[in-house]
Amino acid sequence: MDKNRKIYLDNNATTPVDPRVVEAMLPYFHDIPGNPASRNHPFGWAAEEGVDYAREQIANLINVDPKEIIFTSGATEADNLALKGVFEMYASKGNHIITCKTEHKAVLDSCKKIEKMGGVVTYLDVKEDGLIDLEQLEAAITDKTILISVMWANNETGVIQPMKEIGDICKKHGVLFMSDATQAVGKISVDPKAVGVHLLAFSAHKMYGPKGVGALFVNRKNPRVKVTAQIDGGGHERGMRSGTLNVPGIVGFGKAAEIARNEMAQDAERLSKLRDKLESTLMHNLEETYINGNVDHRMPHVTNMSFKHVEGEGLMMTFNQNMAVSSGSACTSASLEPSYVLVALGLGDDLAHSSIRFSLGRFTTEEDVDFAIDALTKGVTHMRDLSPIWEMYKEGVDLTIFEWSGH
Ligand SMILES: *Cc1c(COP(=O)(O)O)cnc(C)c1O
Repeated sequence: MDKNRKIYLDNNATTPVDPRVVEAMLPYFHDIPGNPASRNHPFGWAAEEGVDYAREQIANLINVDPKEIIFTSGATEADNLALKGVFEMYASKGNHIITCKTEHKAVLDSCKKIEKMGGVVTYLDVKEDGLIDLEQLEAAITDKTILISVMWANNETGVIQPMKEIGDICKKHGVLFMSDATQAVGKISVDPKAVGVHLLAFSAHKMYGPKGVGALFVNRKNPRVKVTAQIDGGGHERGMRSGTLNVPGIVGFGKAAEIARNEMAQDAERLSKLRDKLESTLMHNLEETYINGNVDHRMPHVTNMSFKHVEGEGLMMTFNQNMAVSSGSACTSASLEPSYVLVALGLGDDLAHSSIRFSLGRFTTEEDVDFAIDALTKGVTHMRDLSPIWEMYKEGVDLTIFEWSGH
């Protein structure tokens, strides 16, 4: 094994920027220095042209009108703008929002803030496979409900929610529908209008574009949706998001969208085969290995697996000099907490702590996957060989009597 080899299987955390994207961005750092808001000289016009073109490339990717794209600093800001912006704009209609326990923190923490501002938020449970229950969703709607926010695809498990069915429920009850589609846009077909989504948040750096730029799609017709600005200033982006536009970032985002539109089908096909190889080989090599989340409704490049009786953070230490993945534990100031997403799926602390997320990407090769298979097989075997719990399990001792204490 090459000791200097570095394998990146953490593409759900962020993706490398595609070299074609870097190339498209370069002129906008120096050669085209203008501010697109400078309407009275060619420098400004050139920058504006770059932004306009990117807006079209991005709109084409999700099949919307370029006027419906509001640029932000990323998906976190887009989520904040959608949730708080709708809450403020539609205050006279109601104060109730419905979302889901497995949402990204950008949504959950925005909802917490909204509760402090007098809003009422319902956090739906998910089923064991990570999907929401549509009957529970419909039953949660009241005459005060203004917005339903459900993510397109989950960042930890890759599970894809039934967007069309949720959209139909929203339509039936006259409720706005928002989706954090950060993990889906550019990887699978995302067409918000076709499924009745009125607000869609996404980010360049999860689709081979640069960090620090994202967008919110806001439906302009039938219905005309408005959000109250959360950042005030010069009235950029149709008054919904002030601030000088990140021109190189936006140009790169546009290029990333164009590439994704052309290549996502072939990327998805290639990556799902590699993902399936990774999964099936690990399941074959290692007993007591489980896949978390629905395997029929999920992103093609992601798998979240639990290796029972192996602590995920410790497992990662056996290979993290050479390979990046993500564990189902989150470091808080005091302790290691199991992922709230996996807990919401009903995983016990032990299985949540023993989980690893592999997220493949455009630049993942079969050799990378073979390396991962080898590293995980060795790492898990090594950890289990050292583990008294594993020994007891092999001897048939009932382990349910032990409480997990991973701290
Ligand atoms: C990464 C991510 C975000 C945050 O996006 P940023 O552009 O980094 O702010 C929000 N939601 C989901 C589902 C994500 O995966």
